[in-house]
Order: sequence, then C-alpha cells, then structure tokens
Amino acid sequence: MANQEDIFKKVISHAKEYGYVFQSSEIYDGLSAVYDYAQNGAELKKNIREYWWRAMVQLNENIVGIDAAIFMHPTTWKASGHVDAFNDPLIDNKDSKKRYRADVLIEDYTAKIEGKIEKEVAKAAKRFGDAFDQEQFLATNPRVTDYQKKIDTTLKRLGKSLENEDLADVKALIEELGIVCPVSGSKNWTDVKQFNLMFGTKLGASAESAMDLYLRPETAQGIFVNFLNVQKTGRMKIPFGIAQTGKAFRNEIVARQFIFRMREFEQMEMQFFIKPGTQQEWYEIWKENRMKWHLSLGMGSENYRFHDHEKLAHYADAAADIEFRFPFGFKELEGIHSRTDFDLGAHEKYSGKKLQYFDHAENESYVPYVVETSIGLDRMFLAVFSNSLQEEELENNTTRTVLKLPAVLAPTKAAVLPLVKKDGLPEIAHQIVDDLKWDFNVVYDEKDAVGRRYRRQDAVGTPFCITVDHQSKEDNTVTIRHRDTMEQQRVAIADVNRMIAKEVDMKSWLGKM
Ligand code: ATP
Repeated sequence: MANQEDIFKKVISHAKEYGYVFQSSEIYDGLSAVYDYAQNGAELKKNIREYWWRAMVQLNENIVGIDAAIFMHPTTWKASGHVDAFNDPLIDNKDSKKRYRADVLIEDYTAKIEGKIEKEVAKAAKRFGDAFDQEQFLATNPRVTDYQKKIDTTLKRLGKSLENEDLADVKALIEELGIVCPVSGSKNWTDVKQFNLMFGTKLGASAESAMDLYLRPETAQGIFVNFLNVQKTGRMKIPFGIAQTGKAFRNEIVARQFIFRMREFEQMEMQFFIKPGTQQEWYEIWKENRMKWHLSLGMGSENYRFHDHEKLAHYADAAADIEFRFPFGFKELEGIHSRTDFDLGAHEKYSGKKLQYFDHAENESYVPYVVETSIGLDRMFLAVFSNSLQEEELENNTTRTVLKLPAVLAPTKAAVLPLVKKDGLPEIAHQIVDDLKWDFNVVYDEKDAVGRRYRRQDAVGTPFCITVDHQSKEDNTVTIRHRDTMEQQRVAIADVNRMIAKEVDMKSWLGKM
C-alpha cells in the first residue's frame, strides 16, 4: 500500500488534474496557502455548503441564516478578544530558518506515539485473531499504556502552559521531548513567541482619516453583533440559532497541507442561543447532531472521532472537535464550543448597548448563553475529496481511479454518452441532456471510445453515465452505468430523471440523520 505522503500527493494532483482546486495566481508561481476552486471544485463546494445549510437552517424551524459583511467595526475584535488573544505560539529553528507553531510540533510528536499504539494494536489483532479484545488490550498492555501516559501528560502540560501563557515552558517541553526540526534535524530552537493571526487593512481614502480594520478571522462575530436584530425582527424565542457561511482570514504561521490550513477560507457556523444553565445539555445535543450529519454522508464511522479539549479558548467552558481521518492522520474538521455569555457580554460592555433577551415565561431578562458549531467548508471539502479518491484493482488485472463522491455532493450527476457520433444517437443524447439539465448538472461527451469516457467520468466523480446506443432508437431505452459498482441497467428514457433524482436527492441523504 502506498504511504500517507504518496496518497496525499495523489489527492493534490488529482484535484488539479480534474478541475477541482488550483493554486491561486499560479502563473505568478502561486500565493502560499491560498487556493482557487475550479469548475468542478466550485460545484462540490457549493453542494457541501447547501447540504449544511439545509440541515441547519431549512430543517430547523428555530434556526435562521444570515450573511454578514466581512468588514466589521474594529471594536468588535477588541470585544471578542481577538486583538489581545488570537495568537499562535511560534518557534523558529535557527539552522533551517523554518518557522513552526510550537503547539503543532508537540502535537505532531504525540501523533507519532499514537501511530505506535496503532501498530501495536494491529500486531496484536493479527496474533490473537478472533479472540482479540481491543479495549482490554489498550487498557492493559504495558507498552501501550506507557505510550498513552506519555501522550496524556505531554498534552496536559502543553494545555496548561498555553493557558497560563507560559511560553518558556512550551519551549522547555519541546527541548525535553527532544523534538527536532523536520528540515534541519537540529534542536537549535529560538524562544517561543506569540503571533497575532488577524490580517489588517485600511478603510477610507486619505491617509489621515483612514480607519484600521481587520479581515474577520471568524464568521461568528457577525452573528453576535446581529443577535438582537435577528431575535426581534424574526420574533425568535430562546432556544434559537443563527447560522451563516462565509469567508474568514487568518495569517497562519505555517500553512501546509493543501486546503486543510489556508489563509483565506470559508466557515459554516451556527450560534445557538440558550438559557444560562442549560449549556451542558445543548452542548451534548449539538455534538451528537453534528456527528449524525457527518455520518449521513456514508464516509465510514471509523473515520470520525471526538476529541475533547484540554486547553479551552478564552471564551469557552467546554469544547470538542470532530476529527476526521485525513490522508495525514486524524485532524480537526469541526469544533463544537460552549461559549457561555462571553461574546454577548463583551459586546454589551464595549458597545454600551443591552444585548439581552426577555424571557416571557420566566418574566426575566438575561444575556443568553451560546453553543456554537463551527466547521471549515474547505476542510470538509478535503475530507470528502480525499476519502472518495480510490484506486481499484479490476478483474482483468487493470486498475481504475475512481472518485466515489457521495452522489448528493457530486458536481455533475450524470454524463450522457452517445455510443457513436452518428446514426442519430447524438441527437437523442442531446435531447436527454436538455431534459435533465433543468434538475441536475449533466454533461454531454462523445469523444473517444465509450470505455475511456466511463473512466474519465469515474475519475471526475460523476455517479451515473447514460449511454445511448442503437437500441435506444428502437425502444426508447438507454443504459445507466453506476460509477461505484460499474453495473449497467437498461431503463426507459422516460424513467431516467426519476432514477437519478432518487439517488441524489438531499431528502434521502439527510433523512438518514
Ligand atoms: P486549528 O486548531 O486547526 O488551527 P482552530 O481550532 O483554530 O483550528 P476554529 O477557530 O475552531 O479552528 O475554527 C473552526 C473551524 O474552521 C475549524 O474546525 C476548521 O474546520 C476551520 N478552519 C480554521 N482555520 C482554518 C484554516 N486556516 N484553513 C481552513 N479551515 C480552517
């Protein structure tokens, strides 16, 4: 089997070759950690956004969606804590001159130990066969428990030092663990420093009157400052949620890993406003609900896990990540945070305006508490794309590359292929396209032998190929070929629309939640 790095390289090159993701400004050698979505990528991204929006907004009577501006009054970011505390700890290696996030270096180190545990488990599973009890093995095998202890104490200490802003201890930890620079191999580190991740810009024409602004580092604040506007105009009753999707910007210290960590990215966030004291209950509900949304896409429950935070952000009283198995290991895909009344309280203080809710049932006013769900659209894109890309061995000793995107998310739902470019077959195929295009994205393709056209559609992720042949002229039937099974069915042209609809309809996918 190819190693992780090779698989990831394949993902990146496939994304480019098949019109999903391009490096931004490539003709000028690109801009680091900024990417453009190409013709297929834009569709896939739109479908993921829509899948989220339907699940969050359309299917929940008590959640509404907004679209706030990227620019916000600069005091917003004082109030939210981003001016003072939106920092990452950075460290430089003096030999390679490479810059790293100190916490990520340490987390990568513990991830390696985790890899060792996984190896032990795989070895033991092989040795014990059916009798293998993984839970018991993890709890009792001395080597594994030692590894686990090392991970736990390391992460705990990291969490504590970051919380106390004890950067000297973060450096001490890196030294004690003997972490070396992946480039130079040396342990010649600088001190750890804080680095603010917000991008600054200016609003206004003249230098004197220009106002310093930030590009928003998260979409959440656009929701908080509009909390009362939405509550009043929408006559919303607690508990209720406000959702939005939109661009966010972070000057990430180390932006690697393709679209996993970008400097300009898109978030899909929902802030759920609740009565103080009910946060634990709602936090659990949203954790479960969000996991169900992920699982509805059928990408394998073994590829997801929760990770509860040791180190809480300045605004949170509980936080967990949904992690996904990316080609480079389990990493954060979505965060669920219990944010208390931190944000609304801070905006009250800084704006001097009341941001309270009057609870008629209780006959009292209060600043609501908030549980947030926050997912990166680009990360979700990478999760879907990397998970779907597969190399398959076929019976005749050949292989095929197939992008098994969940059909509901696929950019193009069907390709219509006349078997040959003559005998009236293209005309029938065009008619089918003209009928289907009102409901789905479909393409027409007549170039090359039909087998090659199937392969091309497999690689781009089109779930259905509809082939028009000579029999079609006689009995108005076509074949539908299914991407994943490669099975072909003969069906009436009149039934094609309904058959595709059944497979790609959001209702049948989200209905599984
Ligand atoms: P990380 O620890 O990976 O930097 P974070 O904890 O800072 O992420 P949040 O502030 O909780 O992330 O943001 C919510 C979501 O936004 C993340 O779960 C992730 O999916 C997405 N996200 C955050 N930063 C980036 C980025 N630089 N590029 C792409 N997506 C991002």
